[in-house]
Amino acid sequence: MRIHLKTLGCRLNEAELEAWSREFQARGHAMTGHAEEADLLVVNTCAVTEEAVRKSRKLLGRSNRQNPDARLVVSGCFASLDPNAALEMEGVDLVVDNQDKERLVELVSEKLNLTVMSEAATEPEATGRLEQGRQRAFIKVQDGCRYRCTFCIVTLARGEERSRPVREVIAEINRLHSEGIREVVLTGVHIGGYGSDIGASLAGLIRRILNETDIPRLRIGSIEPWDLPGDFWSLFDNPRFMPHLHLPLQSGSDSVLRRMARRCRSDEYRQLLKQARRHVDDLNVTTDIIVGFPGETEAEWRQTLDFVEEIGFGDLHIFAYSPRRGTKAVTLPDPVSRELKRQRSEALHRLNGHLRRQMLKCHIGRTFPVLIEGQGVHGWSGYSPNYLRISLETDIGDSLENRIIMVRVDGLSADGRQLRGRLQADRHQQ
Ligand code: SF4
Repeated sequence: MRIHLKTLGCRLNEAELEAWSREFQARGHAMTGHAEEADLLVVNTCAVTEEAVRKSRKLLGRSNRQNPDARLVVSGCFASLDPNAALEMEGVDLVVDNQDKERLVELVSEKLNLTVMSEAATEPEATGRLEQGRQRAFIKVQDGCRYRCTFCIVTLARGEERSRPVREVIAEINRLHSEGIREVVLTGVHIGGYGSDIGASLAGLIRRILNETDIPRLRIGSIEPWDLPGDFWSLFDNPRFMPHLHLPLQSGSDSVLRRMARRCRSDEYRQLLKQARRHVDDLNVTTDIIVGFPGETEAEWRQTLDFVEEIGFGDLHIFAYSPRRGTKAVTLPDPVSRELKRQRSEALHRLNGHLRRQMLKCHIGRTFPVLIEGQGVHGWSGYSPNYLRISLETDIGDSLENRIIMVRVDGLSADGRQLRGRLQADRHQQ
């Protein structure tokens, strides 16, 4: 069968799509990038906001119109939170809950009678990802979360914590590295809770990956600013573990954090960053901020602005609060008006732009190993170990794609959002 996969939402959804693609190919099916050509369509949905639900529905409708003869399978958070609504969508043949995602290919094969063509079973095209211009792979290591932040629907959609066995993660990384992938990103819903159900830990997993694989660059996805073991910072002594952390803060006001049921208050966050920056050179910390949480007063908002300025984040992901049915926060009083949310978001974007330019300027004159991802309007570009985008002009003829090369930073891009550099020396790493 020819199979087409689509996803919305988070890195975890992307990592799941890559795993399904591998498994379908191992069963002899072919992947196609065109929905019109497919015999089977699988859509991995999102429900983090009402807007995400609207987009998920729209994608299902479009997929069915593009190819009404194909079988249509839907999974992901929208389908898990509202399976009946998903099943009622025109053309949907099967709904697979988040809890069953690991078995999606098996369930689809069984319930939709997909014939396994073992003779056609192939090792998934080794360079599929690289041909897609993807040098980085997202590895799902964990799912679910034991916490109940009052604004979060993900914890309801993805269920209790469950971790993939360490050996399975290591085997996947070694396979991806043998296919030419140079960087992997560990993802999950609450990766700080990795191993809580199998007697393992995130620090232990990272240590084993660094010891039992030769992957040149290892990153971790978004991680909550708690559940970080004391010896976590020593992991960064290994130059293959990249010094960038995305640590969601959500608010700089303790009274707002209390209403969010967050497990980290502003001073704990401050102390955590002090400790981290003492141990890890060039550490870049980015974060998430929710603007306009119910009841957010001018004073509380001021606290968030001041705290963000004090910490000096490398970048902010800014979200205007959107009420989600099924969460506790939707019942909280004193909603913030759409206009005030817009004003506060704009103010935070301005502050972010200013802080980011300052942080980037500190890197001028420095030299970094950059994993080149591709060539765009600004020339070749890629990311530094601490996750700063760098573009470089060079008259070198051959492709620099998927190579790790030394780049000397000599300025900022015109929009001030990324670095600009020159080729220092060609260090082609195996
Ligand atoms: S820790 Fe993260 S995933 Fe868990 S409930 Fe809070 S925001 Fe959601």
